[in-house]
Amino acid sequence: MEDWYHVCGEEERVSLLSPERRVRRNVELILDLLAEEGCTATFFMLGSVAEQEPELLPLIAGGGHEIASHGYSHRLIPELGATAFREELRRTSAIIGSQTQVVPAGFRAPRWSLSRETPWAFEILAEEGYRYDSSLNPLPFVGDRLGARLPFRRGASGGDLLELPPLVTPFSGFNLPTGGGWGLRFFPLPLICSTIEKLNRQGAPAVLYLHPRELDPFGPRLELAPLKSFVVYGPRTDVRQRLRHLLQRFRFGSMCQLVEQWQSA
Ligand SMILES: [Zn+2]
Repeated sequence: MEDWYHVCGEEERVSLLSPERRVRRNVELILDLLAEEGCTATFFMLGSVAEQEPELLPLIAGGGHEIASHGYSHRLIPELGATAFREELRRTSAIIGSQTQVVPAGFRAPRWSLSRETPWAFEILAEEGYRYDSSLNPLPFVGDRLGARLPFRRGASGGDLLELPPLVTPFSGFNLPTGGGWGLRFFPLPLICSTIEKLNRQGAPAVLYLHPRELDPFGPRLELAPLKSFVVYGPRTDVRQRLRHLLQRFRFGSMCQLVEQWQSA
């Protein structure tokens, strides 16, 4: 849950412009779609956005959805370091708590920036009471190419958490980002559906994700290098139809529900 200009690496440039806010409008589109299809979801909220838009979280919680944490500033975790990471978690958790009386159980890092290089971050999440993380994306460049594709439990020594990676489709020795972002908007729906079915047959969930700006194809844009521009602003005109198709075809719930099921199984 972030605004259209929360593109990692670009935020400092944008903060000078006092940009127009679009997040409320876009979140309402997501909430309407979920309500129409009778689905609940998890909203990883950026603390700074919740502070700017204090009516957003009550709106989301009122729809029966889970509120989790996306940190406060949208800075990458290695850049923050351990002390500032813990501070951001506490600050965001306090904002979420004051607006909704909810204690977040899950975390997702900006640009999948938790990795094997930040083992301290998983320990901090566990120490701060988090039950799961969904920040490890098994992709080259933005994630960990060799990362797990199925959910797994971290050992107590590395921060006792469930790890819930987003959906990818294995292809020729690497993974396609079919679970969200440009991949969910770009790859053919039959490919995405068959990957979900395959995972479900193995007893595993498929984790899909979406930014509010992806439902705003004609909203404002940052000037980005061509490849980044495609990743952020690539095909967006049929996102709502694609989501509706997936929500109707499969049964979805919040990540917290998955964690409950896992722990009671
Ligand atoms: Zn983000």
